[in-house]
Amino acid sequence: MGKFVSKASMGNKRAARTCKGKGGAVIFEGEDDEDSEDSDFEESESDDGDVDSDDESDIGDFIVEEEELASMGDDIHDMSFEDCLDGSSKRDKNYKNGKVYVEQPYGSIKLEPWLIFTDREAFLDVLRDYCIQEGFGLSVEKADSRRYTVVCAVEGCDWGIHASKMVDKFSRAIKSLTGEHRQCGRLEVNPIVTTKWLVGKLLPEIEANLDIPVLTLKKMTQQKYRIQVKTRLFYKVKALAKEVINGSFSESYALLPRYAEMIKDTNPGSYALITWHSDPGDVQPKFKACFFSFGAQVRGFLKGCRPMIGIDGAHLSGFFKGILLSALGIDGNNEIFLLAYGVVDTESQESWNYFMRNLRALFEREGCSRDDWTFISDRMRGVDLAVHENFPRATRRCCAQHLYMNCKNGGWSGELFHKLFGIAANAYNPFVYNKAMEKITEFDPNATKYLDTCTEQWSRHQFDPAVCCDHNTTNYVE
Ligand SMILES: [Zn+2]
Repeated sequence: MGKFVSKASMGNKRAARTCKGKGGAVIFEGEDDEDSEDSDFEESESDDGDVDSDDESDIGDFIVEEEELASMGDDIHDMSFEDCLDGSSKRDKNYKNGKVYVEQPYGSIKLEPWLIFTDREAFLDVLRDYCIQEGFGLSVEKADSRRYTVVCAVEGCDWGIHASKMVDKFSRAIKSLTGEHRQCGRLEVNPIVTTKWLVGKLLPEIEANLDIPVLTLKKMTQQKYRIQVKTRLFYKVKALAKEVINGSFSESYALLPRYAEMIKDTNPGSYALITWHSDPGDVQPKFKACFFSFGAQVRGFLKGCRPMIGIDGAHLSGFFKGILLSALGIDGNNEIFLLAYGVVDTESQESWNYFMRNLRALFEREGCSRDDWTFISDRMRGVDLAVHENFPRATRRCCAQHLYMNCKNGGWSGELFHKLFGIAANAYNPFVYNKAMEKITEFDPNATKYLDTCTEQWSRHQFDPAVCCDHNTTNYVE
């Protein structure tokens, strides 16, 4: 029981704003009570002594529509929206008195009695925009499949709106709009603002710039809609908007097999493989790993690059995480040249084996059975075994920068050690290397012992000149 009833029962027709439509009358009656409609009808007839007989029938149409429907039984189901507008029925005037809501830009939305909306959703969307525009919150008095009655959330404010279902059973019309906000003030933080609403409003901005900072979105919301929203909500808004724009991550994974086929169709010589988990209990196959190399990449590498392959893994930050593995070469101009890439679930020997196996298959398909490539990487788990399993005669270099970091973690650091390590790593002949190592032994014999355990090449004097490449770090891969 809310304000509507109390006003109606007081019979205060002035407080309840009366609207004169084309047909003459109507409005706001206390419809809060399920069975109050007929009595309201009678009350308005007797109260409004100045309405003529045509108006009275209109009033009747408006107010009893739902009850009338119920009593009409099944024959109403044969009626369509058009049937209601043939110009002859009394019900027709329902629609003629009102006007269909036409979308208005935010900031100039006006509501009035007998404004008709295509359906409940459309009405609620406009009402939400209107409340945010006017800066007040809502308190629901009644909301069911037929009627919707809300008042201003501020205690004591007499603003209220009532809408109900029309005879076509879909469209909604505002039946009454009462009172006004006198001392409500403007809500800066409006609980009616939802993530979904923000996504709808900010979608064009996010679509124009997917990297738009959340603080910019916050500022735009403040300026355009004059509302305050917590910054963290905009992260969610951005993520949801991206899903609307790009489709979700899961949808993208489902498209991978088609993507792979498309690559092979449109780029002859390309290698594209998607691997799925073979769990017999699974109805839907689950993505496991993928490996891609475009025709131009593998041929370009075999024909124009130095025989050295840099490999590295990078953690992916998307919803499903995973590791991006990549293999890069260096061309004649010392520029980096992407050879192949893949996505796997974890950085493990199994994953590296998958990657190396496909790399070997890729080369073999191009007629290259060479297995003495030089691989450079940091000392990641599983890489060494996977490389030698697929390329038995491969040479391994490890990144000197990563090796130095390992030393630092082992307790050997400082300006002197850094300098000596640098000399040893960049030594082009054994003499310089041995001198540097002697000094490192003087610094700490354990450091030399540790460096001697490194089976991969890390000092330039160890490198094979035939590789024509003296990179001793994986900087170019990263
Ligand atoms: Zn108010």
